[in-house]
Amino acid sequence: MEQITVVGAGVMGKGIAYASAISGFKVFLNDISEEALKNAKHDIETLLSGSAEKGFITSDQHQSAVDHLSYTTNLNEAAKDADLVIEAVLEKMDIKIKVFQQLDEICKKETILATNTSTMSPTEIAAQTSRPDQVVAMHFFNPVHKMKLIEVIKGLETSDATVDYVRKITEKLNKEMVEVNEFPGFVTSRMNCLIGNEAMNMLMEGVASAEDIDKAMKLGLNHPMGPLELADLVGLDTRLRNMEYLHATLGEKYRPSPLLVKYVKAGRYGRKSGSGFYDYS
Ligand code: NAD
Repeated sequence: MEQITVVGAGVMGKGIAYASAISGFKVFLNDISEEALKNAKHDIETLLSGSAEKGFITSDQHQSAVDHLSYTTNLNEAAKDADLVIEAVLEKMDIKIKVFQQLDEICKKETILATNTSTMSPTEIAAQTSRPDQVVAMHFFNPVHKMKLIEVIKGLETSDATVDYVRKITEKLNKEMVEVNEFPGFVTSRMNCLIGNEAMNMLMEGVASAEDIDKAMKLGLNHPMGPLELADLVGLDTRLRNMEYLHATLGEKYRPSPLLVKYVKAGRYGRKSGSGFYDYS
């Protein structure tokens, strides 16, 4: 059985672990926080039961996923036998680099190392390892069990063999991939962050209410979710880090909306904290 190890058990890590487990992989989910792992286990098991009840997965898939999912704070135990590691820790370059340096020491020499970064450079991360040809970005979307796309970003040294391997994994996960050459924000985040930021500036300027901005984008432009409800789902702290990185790399157009900065300062992180542009209490 092929093993996928997911590092970081937050919003994305638990989703990637779920999708991998129902697709027949042995999965280790790792986090530095016991509490994050406990919450992830609860959320994954709730989603597995709900999906089995509704007939989205078979009872065999459900049972096999439960049997083949392990949760641990010990990175060595989680990663030593992995065929593929997908990193989903905070969107901070120094933290990601530290994780990749540890993985490079722990993992087998053939293991592929992927980052789920929304914006950052896989080349910069890869350069800190002894296997830059085996480092790639696999950008999943939220919620992972519903979203079809994996945006695969090739760093400068990423080999074709690594991209081929990731393509096979994508098929096994029942997802579709697009191949992108590295540039900050790739295709999706570069576009989506700008739309979200503009919506936040409009709200700040009093152009319309949050509800009406989102309604306009859904009913007028056929977006499945409004940009403000989507930002709440992503997490406003994560979105601010994305904007700060894009601002630093792509320039003034990406300056984070002052309203986003203010909400993050207030601890309004969106759904995960109970309030953002909307109230979830
Ligand atoms: P999150 O804040 O929900 O979770 C991050 C987790 O990483 C936390 O549980 C934290 O304890 C853990 N962590 C921090 N340092 C760690 C370490 N050294 N080792 C192991 N675990 C560690 O964040 P998220 O929203 O899941 O985002 C994770 C990554 O995925 C980011 O790079 C983000 O840009 C990207 N991403 C997010 C979304 C989204 O919608 N939230 C979508 C696509 C990609």
